[in-house]
Amino acid sequence: MAAMEYSALRERLLDRKQLLEKAVSQYEAPTNIISLLQEVDQALERMNRGSYGICDVCHEGIEPERLYADPLIKVCLDHLNHTEKKMLESDLEISAKVQRALLPKKDLKLNGWLMSYHYQSSGAVSGDYCDLISQENDDEFFFFLGDVSGKGIPAAMLMSNLHALFRSLTRFNLPVNTLLAEANRLFCQSTISSYYATLVCGKATNAGSLEIANAGHCNPILIREGKPAILKRTGLPMGLFCGGEFKSEKTLFNSGDCLIIYSDGLSEAFFKDEQYGEERIIQIAEKNQNLPPGELINVYLNDLAKFKKDFPQNDDLTIMILKKV
Ligand SMILES: [Zn+2]
Repeated sequence: MAAMEYSALRERLLDRKQLLEKAVSQYEAPTNIISLLQEVDQALERMNRGSYGICDVCHEGIEPERLYADPLIKVCLDHLNHTEKKMLESDLEISAKVQRALLPKKDLKLNGWLMSYHYQSSGAVSGDYCDLISQENDDEFFFFLGDVSGKGIPAAMLMSNLHALFRSLTRFNLPVNTLLAEANRLFCQSTISSYYATLVCGKATNAGSLEIANAGHCNPILIREGKPAILKRTGLPMGLFCGGEFKSEKTLFNSGDCLIIYSDGLSEAFFKDEQYGEERIIQIAEKNQNLPPGELINVYLNDLAKFKKDFPQNDDLTIMILKKV
């Protein structure tokens, strides 16, 4: 574990110790608070002895992302007892439900646009982020597709953090580059240093104007007047530098033009040594550009299944398609 994260965990434990001690001194604390305080003391003691983060059973390192979520744990995933395993399963089930509830409606018909997406996690929960937020005046909407580094619960928690950040910031109707810079600053402040997120975000108006930025994410494909183009990265991923600046590009979409955004679960899907790749995504987009978004997504999913044969899905997968009508 990196020294910075180690000291952040230590800070958290000391904070908790202070809060618990206050609770114990101010009122007759129930026994669970007293035993929690003992556990925090024991964790700090393990830090002093240099045995923190080491599994009690196998003496191997405990998964760092689990320690961030709960700094008091003492065993690795392999050595949870039956009750702990059941609790973990139920936590995952609830997290997956919460995550599904954060997704936008599927197959949306907005003024002048059609939108559809596919969202599929490789495990119980996904580190991909996908949202569409209409503005109150209904004249325009924001769309987002991102990918938080890492996997599992910590990535899913950061994904919901992004969801909440953008849901609150879009109310101010900022230009896309300012919105991204503002969200990046807040995300940086709330994120453990080793985590970051790549993201495509944009704003579309009913009239067809599109402002879009790409913070270190896979290149979105634009089909305009029948011709494909890619939108290269316009900035670094979010969460790396608090003061990061982001550029956005403006373009005008006419009827039939479409935008395909996806996570690396599509472009970097592999079969043996072969990668699915951007070129294949472009070719399919060009060939099937007349299809409505939902059907084009199905073409991708079928082609991906054909490509991967029976190789398992190894990464979270999200595809979002917007089409100007
Ligand atoms: Zn172990």
